[in-house]
Amino acid sequence: MWYVSTRDASQTVSFPLALINGLAPDGGLYIPKSIPEVHPTVWKNASSFSEMATEILLPWVSDHIKPDELASLLAQALNFPVSLVKVGDAWVLELFHGPTLSFKDFGARTMARFMNYFVKDDPLTILVATSGDTGSAVADGFSNLPNLRVAVLYPKEQVSPIQERQLIVRRKGVRAFAVEGTFDDCQAMVKQLLTSPSGLRLSSANSINVGRLLPQMLYYFWAFSKTPWGLADVCVPSGNLGNLTAAVLAYLSGLPVRKFIAAHNLNDGFPRFLCGGADPSDDSIQTLSNAMDVGRPSNFERLKSLLDVNELRILIQGHSCSDSRTLKSIQTIYSETGYIADPHTAVGLDAVQGSQYPVIVAATAHPAKFPGTIKQALGFSPEPVDKLTLLEEKPIRVQPLEAHHEALRSQLKYWL
Ligand SMILES: *Cc1c(COP(=O)(O)O)cnc(C)c1O
Repeated sequence: MWYVSTRDASQTVSFPLALINGLAPDGGLYIPKSIPEVHPTVWKNASSFSEMATEILLPWVSDHIKPDELASLLAQALNFPVSLVKVGDAWVLELFHGPTLSFKDFGARTMARFMNYFVKDDPLTILVATSGDTGSAVADGFSNLPNLRVAVLYPKEQVSPIQERQLIVRRKGVRAFAVEGTFDDCQAMVKQLLTSPSGLRLSSANSINVGRLLPQMLYYFWAFSKTPWGLADVCVPSGNLGNLTAAVLAYLSGLPVRKFIAAHNLNDGFPRFLCGGADPSDDSIQTLSNAMDVGRPSNFERLKSLLDVNELRILIQGHSCSDSRTLKSIQTIYSETGYIADPHTAVGLDAVQGSQYPVIVAATAHPAKFPGTIKQALGFSPEPVDKLTLLEEKPIRVQPLEAHHEALRSQLKYWL
């Protein structure tokens, strides 16, 4: 099994190299050279999520990981439930039952264990710049692994109190830095340190890593195994298009999807592209579904390498949803079904209203992560969940940091 850059299909690399490199040397993203087919019996007859997961992912990594090792790695990574619940006419695929309450736990936890597996001698330091969900999923998912250390950078006073708590709680092998700057400063610091000689063994854990994408195919297969119909639509609340790309990979491996719905907030360059517009290239704007505030989705390049423009426009239908519509969607869903959807899932549910076909909607975050927005929509806050309230009692560790990559470098040197 080989992986190639989206920009040059002649440069093949192995899975471990694609994983550790993150980005191809030519600036492209790694995609599989060919896509292994998944026989329907694999998911139709699956007895457990982890057994199905091992069978599906084995061909992607089998040159480097033995079946029993993969099974144990996945069992440790995916040690939380996935559920499928009927909400009105749609099936909601709840992907937020992991430790940090968003679907990003699937990718982060699995990628961390893949990396830990391949890094045997010197520990590897993972850098991640974050403005929200990714950072906590990475900090948590990469903690406590003997061969890895993580530095999380976030813009000081620019993340919500719940998000900050999730980032700075003390974890083994993790350091959190509150950067005196913006998210873009954090990203620039990471990039500069990664691309200049630093004397450190570094890698990154951004959303374009192929190791995060692969495990995100699994829950789509699992959802189809739980539903009676042959063909169904799949709706994905989208920002950077990683989750949708994983769903498309599942489709290309044989999952019987009729149509995809890419549900976006007002950062809707991709829906406009699907309707015949130009490639998405806007600056992002702030919305209530902030994990989807992406103007130039990096996985767009990957989607265009997997399918040509016409195929994309036939297979995927775009949708865009304003903040007022998102609030309305939360209200309507609650009044009609009693279900409380987080603002991202609400964008997805808005997109499938009145659908004539069986449809699965990915629920990407737990509503308890967004008490302010839920209160704004419904007039009351969602039930608190233990995973968040317990954080209040845990010790924290965070360090302020000047927005300069040299400042970060000396911190890392001191740490190692
Ligand atoms: C990251 C995220 C998204 C967007 O996923 P992409 O893979 O970037 O398209 C949607 N919802 C939530 C809650 C997220 O954290």
